[in-house]
Amino acid sequence: MAELIIMGSAFAIASAAADNSHLVLRGDNETYLIDCAGRPVPRLKSIGVDCADLSGIIVTHFHPDHTYGLSILLMDMWLLGRKHPLKIYGYKACIDKVAALMALYDPHLWPGMYAIEYVAITETPNAALLNSDEFEITTTPVEHMIPCMALRIVTKATGHVTTYSADTQPCQTVIDLADNADLLVHEATGVGLGHTSPRQAGEVAQKAGAKALILTHYDVHHPDPERMLAEAKTAFAGDVQLAYDFMRISLG
Ligand SMILES: [Zn+2]
Repeated sequence: MAELIIMGSAFAIASAAADNSHLVLRGDNETYLIDCAGRPVPRLKSIGVDCADLSGIIVTHFHPDHTYGLSILLMDMWLLGRKHPLKIYGYKACIDKVAALMALYDPHLWPGMYAIEYVAITETPNAALLNSDEFEITTTPVEHMIPCMALRIVTKATGHVTTYSADTQPCQTVIDLADNADLLVHEATGVGLGHTSPRQAGEVAQKAGAKALILTHYDVHHPDPERMLAEAKTAFAGDVQLAYDFMRISLG
């Protein structure tokens, strides 16, 4: 059974209980990491994921709170014995910077380092990211401060559709991508440049006709998290939940 695991639910300012954004998409035989913040290696191990064996990494955009765990993850995958190539997917502007960042660590000096293949995704609506045995993932550009992609994930075994907004202000491309989705995972940082409030996330889910909404990438220091839920519920008639670290969501 495929599942999505919220590895970090915090916006850019993490807390002791909530890490910055990263998610695991897990099928029977494939495991993808979406964004890579925090301390991915021990946290992946704690949910039973062999990080050396990840099927691929998707990077939505090159902001620190979505990427700062990458360098230690890639190094530890080597130390843990990975030999086969690793694909890192993202927009060209993003993966060029990931590659430049990694180059500073001179990984060519690490004996037996596996190959990293950077896969540049077309920056247009409904662009294909991957089509594997278990998942079909398409992307669309969203409205953030830098190039950033939302994801639509179809679980082939069940037909379940999940959309993840990544970081964005409310935008039509996410509404289109989340059209009739079983689940929309939407950021809820708050009103501001390139971001969305809980109520606005509810409006996006309602316009898309999504069946359920999970708010993530929100202010984990908020004194009254229930208020964020209530705000989203004023705009969205479906089920709304607040993400928390290690939340597991069945995709079937
Ligand atoms: Zn961002």
